[in-house]
Amino acid sequence: TLSDRLTSVLQNLRGKGKLSEADIDATAREIRIALLEADVALPVVREFIKQVKDRAKGAEVSQALNPAQQVIKIVNEELVAILGGETRRINLAKNPPSVIMLAGLQGSGKTTLAGKLALWLRKQGHAPLLVACDLQRPNAVTQLQVVGERAGVTTFAPEPGNGVGDPVEVARRSIDEARRAQHDVVIVDTAGRLGVDEELMRQAADIRDAITPDETLFVVDAMIGQDAVTTAEAFRDGVGFSGVVLTKLDGDARGGAALSVRHVTGQPILFASNGEKLEDFDVFHPDRMASRILGMGDMLTLIEQAEQAFDQEKAEQAAAKLGTGELTLEDFLEQMQAVRRMGPIGNLLGMLPGAGQMKDQLAQVDDAHLDRLQAIIRGMTPAERANPKMINASRRQRIARGSGVTVRDVNDLVNRFFEARKMMQQMAGRFGFGMGASATK
Ligand code: GDP
Ligand code: MG
Repeated sequence: TLSDRLTSVLQNLRGKGKLSEADIDATAREIRIALLEADVALPVVREFIKQVKDRAKGAEVSQALNPAQQVIKIVNEELVAILGGETRRINLAKNPPSVIMLAGLQGSGKTTLAGKLALWLRKQGHAPLLVACDLQRPNAVTQLQVVGERAGVTTFAPEPGNGVGDPVEVARRSIDEARRAQHDVVIVDTAGRLGVDEELMRQAADIRDAITPDETLFVVDAMIGQDAVTTAEAFRDGVGFSGVVLTKLDGDARGGAALSVRHVTGQPILFASNGEKLEDFDVFHPDRMASRILGMGDMLTLIEQAEQAFDQEKAEQAAAKLGTGELTLEDFLEQMQAVRRMGPIGNLLGMLPGAGQMKDQLAQVDDAHLDRLQAIIRGMTPAERANPKMINASRRQRIARGSGVTVRDVNDLVNRFFEARKMMQQMAGRFGFGMGASATK
């Protein structure tokens, strides 16, 4: 897995504080192999790696993570984003019946999915109608009826003994039947071929035109790997679809097909199928798929823990200092940097005792403001940071000029620092932190 392969890279990078271009390249190389092994299509891999590299090069140095971990974190975030980020819910029509059409190659799992979807919808209080528009294979209609029975829903099929039915006509009539029998969702199963062919596409497109689906779902077998891209493109051009369903994820496919299909067609993945039973079915979760593709759930957990531990350690140090009045501008600067690496400032400050009462002040802190504050503190000497009281008027002017702010900004910072320190000492006292004997006044 990628974790194994990255171990040596990780060891070489341990202890380094900064992401060098060579570090990024080395890590990117391993990730590239992992993606290819997960069956992500080559052009998609290339573009993805390029994107990750660009972002990694611009990334801030993290004290919580080593360089390789940092790259992996970025890779994971980008993967989740490219897989759709948020979970996309299925679109149902405002005026029932909603029409869901399934398209895909033969054997991709359409008929099975029809049953899964029907059961899932029925459990949510819908009354689905399954429609048999695969009239190509002799057993297809029966198969759908069996699946429908298991899901506890009705199946609409052409009457037997009528010769070969017309799937477009069946689809059209099923909508009337749904209205008559008050089904609020219609799920249309269609025929597939082993390979993409024109007749199949035309038939699917004709069915689509007859029933104007609210969702056309392209059903694709995750096991077909790289072929998923060509198949997806053919269905996109031939029929068009609004969402993707990945099937057979219970196999050993690493799920690269998901990334490829999503990336190439731009359409979201709505559901994942992972078994032959009707219950083996779930809404698609981009984050789970990302860790499956990377094959490094453990490492991602480690990264999360390292970040949390780092956060907590800093917060504890700060809390300990608060109570004794030893908090300096140096600590303040360090905290600001830590906070900004890890997200909104409210997160870290929120851990401090009494933070709730400071909500309004915290809300005023934005990035530009933090930039100014950091520049001012950096303009001070270490002695001044430890004891801001010693900064006299001429030093304030120098600091202001050096950091591109006004003297008033410097005064504001120093005054507010004293205020904050006093307030925090009072709060620490109230909350029972060790009030050092020599609280600074
Ligand atoms: P269709 O030709 O697209 O309608 O595909 P079917 O629904 O008939 O499925 C083809 C085969 O794949 C059947 O044997 C199904 O039981 C099997 N199948 C469908 N979905 C899954 C899945 O998620 N996991 C596994 N392991 N098998 C599946
Ligand atoms: Mg079928």
